[in-house]
Amino acid sequence: MAAAKQVVRLAAGLALCAGSAAHAAPRPDFDRGADAGAVLEQLRAVEPPSVGGTESASGGGDVWITIGKSDLVGPAGAGTALGAPAASSKRAALYKVPADRLAELSHLMHEKFGRCGGFFAYETREEAEADLFAPPASKGGPYTLDQEAVVRPAAAAVKEGELRSTIETLAAFETRYYQSDTGVQASAWIQERWRALSATLPRASVAAVPHGWKQSSVVLTIPGSEKPDEIVVLGGHLDSISGWGFLRGRSPGADDNASGIAVLTEAIRVLAQAGFAPKRTVQFMGYSAEEVGLRGSKEIASRYAQQGKKVVGVIQFDMTNFKGSGDGIWLLEDNVDPELTAFLGKLVDAYAGVPWATTRCGYGCSDHASWTRSGFPASAAFESTFDGMNHSIHSERDTLANAGGNAAHSVPFARLAAAFAAELAKSAGTPSAHGR
Ligand SMILES: [Zn+2]
Repeated sequence: MAAAKQVVRLAAGLALCAGSAAHAAPRPDFDRGADAGAVLEQLRAVEPPSVGGTESASGGGDVWITIGKSDLVGPAGAGTALGAPAASSKRAALYKVPADRLAELSHLMHEKFGRCGGFFAYETREEAEADLFAPPASKGGPYTLDQEAVVRPAAAAVKEGELRSTIETLAAFETRYYQSDTGVQASAWIQERWRALSATLPRASVAAVPHGWKQSSVVLTIPGSEKPDEIVVLGGHLDSISGWGFLRGRSPGADDNASGIAVLTEAIRVLAQAGFAPKRTVQFMGYSAEEVGLRGSKEIASRYAQQGKKVVGVIQFDMTNFKGSGDGIWLLEDNVDPELTAFLGKLVDAYAGVPWATTRCGYGCSDHASWTRSGFPASAAFESTFDGMNHSIHSERDTLANAGGNAAHSVPFARLAAAFAAELAKSAGTPSAHGR
C-alpha cells in the first residue's frame, strides 16, 4: 500500500499551507498510528490557498454525509474525528460536516482506504436518512445476449489512439475540480465532443445537467424507438481532485477518471459508426463532483427514482487504464446488482477479449453506488484488483505516462461499454430473444 508516499504528500500539503512554520511540523505517519484527528485539526487551522481563481470549496453551510461503518472501526477508522453519528443503520452512519470540509474528507478516505469516493454527501438530513434506511435495490434482469451483429463490428472498431487522445485532452486541463473554472471548461469540452460524435445517432441530444456548484454533469440521450421509457445508463465521473493543500492545484486525473470518460466517448464513436439504433433509450453520463461525496450522480439517480423512471441497468467506468493486476477487467461485487454483474461477465467473455474476475472496493466508492442507493440495478468495471489499483490517483502524478503512456488497458473496457449499450437496449432491425 502506498501509505508512505501519501504521508510525504500530506506533509508537503502542510508545508504548502502553513508556509515556513510547517517545515517544523512533525511528519504524521499513519502506519505507526498517527492520529488522523490531530492531523485534521492541524489542517483545519490552516486556511487553504485559492489557486486558479476558484473560491472556497463548495460554499458555506453544513452537509450531511453517510460513511460505511466498516470504515469507522479498526486502526484505519480510528480518530477520523467525526464525533458521534446523528443516526446510523446496519451498514452506515450519518454525520453533519461543514460543506467546505468535503475535500478534506475525500482526502482522508483516499489516504486511509485508497478509495476514490468513499462517502455520500447530502444537502438535507431527510435525504440522507432516507438513503440510510433505503430498502435494498430491486433486482435487475433477466438479461439476454443476442446482439452480435451490432456489437462485433463496434467492438472491432475500438482504437487505442482514440482513447489515448481523449485522456490526453482531459488530463491537460489544470484541474477538473468540481468548483474550478477549468473543471467547467472540461465539462463543456465533453459536451461538445459527445455532441459531435453522436450527430449521426437517431434523435440523439446532449445536455449539461447543472447542480448547486460550478461544474455541470453531462448527459447524452439516444431515445429508444420501441421502449423509450426504459433506460440503459453508462457513466463515469468527469471531475478530478488533488491531495489536500493542492486541492485546486494540478490534478490531471488521467486514470481517475479521464480514462472512464474516454471509454464512454469511444463507445459512442464506434456505436454511431456502426449505425446503432436502440429499441430502449440509452444515456451516457459524465458525473460532476464524485470526488466530494458522489454528489452529481446521487442527485441524478435520486431524481430518477422520484420521477419513477425505469432503469434496466447501469454500468460505471471509474479508473480503467492502470494495469496494476495484469490484463483483464475486474467487476465490482459490492454495492452492485449480482444478476447484472454476472451478465457483465458474459459480455466480457463474448466481446472484450480479456479475462475477468471480481473485486470489492467498499462503501460509496464510486457513482454506481448512487444508483444502487436509489434502488436501480447497477454494476461497475475496474482496472485491477482493489489492492492492485493506481496509487497515484488524487495527485499530480496521475498522468498517462504513469499508466505506461498509452491507453491499451482501456481498450477492452470500451468494447464492454459498446456491448453493454447494445445488449441491454437491443437494436432496431435485429431480432431479440424474449422481446427484452
Ligand atoms: Zn474516481
